[in-house]
Amino acid sequence: THFGNRQVALEEKQGLVNAVFHGVADRYDLMNDLMSGGVHRVWKDAMVANLAPPKKGTRPYRVLDMAGGTGDIAERIINASLGYAEVTVSDINSDMLRVGEERARSWRFGSQARFVEANAEELPFEDESFNAYTIAFGIRNVPRIDKALQEAHRVLKRGGRLLVLEFSQVDVPGLDRIYDMFSDRLIPPMGRVVTGDAQPYQYLVESIRKFPSPSAFTAMISAAGFKRVTHTPYSGNIAALFGAWKI
Ligand code: SAM
Repeated sequence: THFGNRQVALEEKQGLVNAVFHGVADRYDLMNDLMSGGVHRVWKDAMVANLAPPKKGTRPYRVLDMAGGTGDIAERIINASLGYAEVTVSDINSDMLRVGEERARSWRFGSQARFVEANAEELPFEDESFNAYTIAFGIRNVPRIDKALQEAHRVLKRGGRLLVLEFSQVDVPGLDRIYDMFSDRLIPPMGRVVTGDAQPYQYLVESIRKFPSPSAFTAMISAAGFKRVTHTPYSGNIAALFGAWKI
């Protein structure tokens, strides 16, 4: 059946994504720096500045950093809150989490992070248990984005924040062509040099091109029940931050 085929395609996609990140876990952060020229750090800092986690309060401030991989968003959030925020780093990939967990031992407030293996489409967390849900360069990899957004909405408390950082489609004339050339001719070979395999990086380039446009993605966030959705392009829309509230 048509539905059956679609199901298989989605399972295959998750299998491919898992293989990519199992293979690169140990060199993942190095690859990010090389491929973005370090700019991913600026985007991530901007995301955390936008979240502005509290530094003190009478109740705990709990963040779920989904597809949190090696934990660099979590470290930023915890540091920005001077150790007040409690961050659950969750990822479908045990290898990425293992690298993050080891790293967290040397963070300034490492005990504020916990690491939980989970699929963004089916979260093992209770309803209304987090103040914020962040996902950086992760939602593009999730086969059923609508399910992941519904789950984000479910686990957030009322008044909770959603922040999604993701690659976007460059919309600056001139830059778009340079970016396409860079994506096709440089990213896969760089992947081969650092990790020994170009294929995962070909996948990366394609997944960026297939991701919904900012207006389509904004509509998906609203459809999951979120309000006051915002879109902020970064670096000529190479990346974009989407923000929304559960009200
Ligand atoms: N957030 C980190 C960052 O910004 O550097 C890691 C992003 S990495 C590009 C994408 C992550 O998404 C990988 O660690 C991968 O294992 C995770 N992922 C892919 N599919 C997932 C799913 N269905 N549920 C949870 N995590 C998933």
